[in-house]
Amino acid sequence: MNRSVEIVAERREEEKDDEPPNPLPLGKGYVSFEEISEVSGLSVEEIREIDRVYPVKVSRHYFSLIKEKDDGIYRQCIPSFEELGDETGEHDPLREESCNSNTPESVIHRYPDRLVLYVSNHCAMNCRFCTRKRKVGDSEKHNTSLEEISKGLDYIRNHEEIRDVLLSGGDPLMLSNKRLESIIKETREIPHVEIIRIGTRVPCSEPERISQELCDMLKKYHPLYMNIHFNHPEEITPESEKACSMLADAGIPLGSQTVLLRGVNDTPKIMKKLMQKLLKIRVRPYYIYQCDPIEGTRHLRARVETGLGIIEGLRGWTSGLCVPHFVIDAPGGGGKIPLLPEYVLSIDREKVVLRNYENKEFEYIQVD
Ligand SMILES: *Cc1c(COP(=O)(O)O)cnc(C)c1O
Ligand code: SF4
Repeated sequence: MNRSVEIVAERREEEKDDEPPNPLPLGKGYVSFEEISEVSGLSVEEIREIDRVYPVKVSRHYFSLIKEKDDGIYRQCIPSFEELGDETGEHDPLREESCNSNTPESVIHRYPDRLVLYVSNHCAMNCRFCTRKRKVGDSEKHNTSLEEISKGLDYIRNHEEIRDVLLSGGDPLMLSNKRLESIIKETREIPHVEIIRIGTRVPCSEPERISQELCDMLKKYHPLYMNIHFNHPEEITPESEKACSMLADAGIPLGSQTVLLRGVNDTPKIMKKLMQKLLKIRVRPYYIYQCDPIEGTRHLRARVETGLGIIEGLRGWTSGLCVPHFVIDAPGGGGKIPLLPEYVLSIDREKVVLRNYENKEFEYIQVD
């Protein structure tokens, strides 16, 4: 069987367990290993070798954005032997698995008033730098079975301090509308849950999935927010623009999450272009993440100074709306820690000495 057919079949198979099959078109599907072989020069057998360790999957839409070998789009989706050669990273640096000891498998509860509920193991593409690189695409992990999700919902019901629920995965928008709606509806019915958030890459990686039917369903459950994963200006296409405008028209405030990646978006110029293009499609930049030290991602990780330089290159030089928070998701499970270039030169009882974006100094006199 052709690999793309296989994946679709796999997805159908998984859904057969508990819910009716996805009634929506699955987009234009996924590229075959033969096609990946053509652009990469790797043989199909070599791609299979990498796929056995870190599953390979690229949506046809995302693949069509590659302009040349090793460009910013290519590096995110096409496997490389550098992944197998990397022994520097960790398997689960954020301790997502171990921090789950008192919670159901589908829940990551790290902050006082909000948590992540895992609802899907699948994505429209398997990003080569993914934090859940081994987990995504692995159908043997059962934390997204209906039973595990129900346990997660019970956990939320029993924890009245949870006012913000983030649906994540994998990608929640890989679920059928029906299954997604049942999860959102149950979450919405919990009285102490104030807001629901969906973290997704689908408007970028498989924008055809965003249908009017999906938007009409989502807008019944406001306040609902969506954070979309975008990493490169070329990901903003007429298709992703249309998907985002349908979501925004459904009243969903859209944010972006970007991972800082070497050879993809590790210059202020590319990041500025990305952030400006996001605002044009009504997506407000929210986070830039330092890439997690996951095994198999060394060739894609940039240094922290690079991220600080990018914030420095944005703040003041372009709209404040274009400037996301630069964060490191602390290895060891400490949550997201913000990093800022230093703008405070000194601070004492009388005054604060500051510098602005152009490196000019200013004084602010304090109250007693
Ligand atoms: C990122 C994240 C959140 C949400 O963090 P915000 O800063 O509120 O966007 C919540 N829980 C976990 C485990 C997270 O990783
Ligand atoms: S879309 Fe997100 S969760 Fe899915 S593979 Fe990419 S980085 Fe990982």
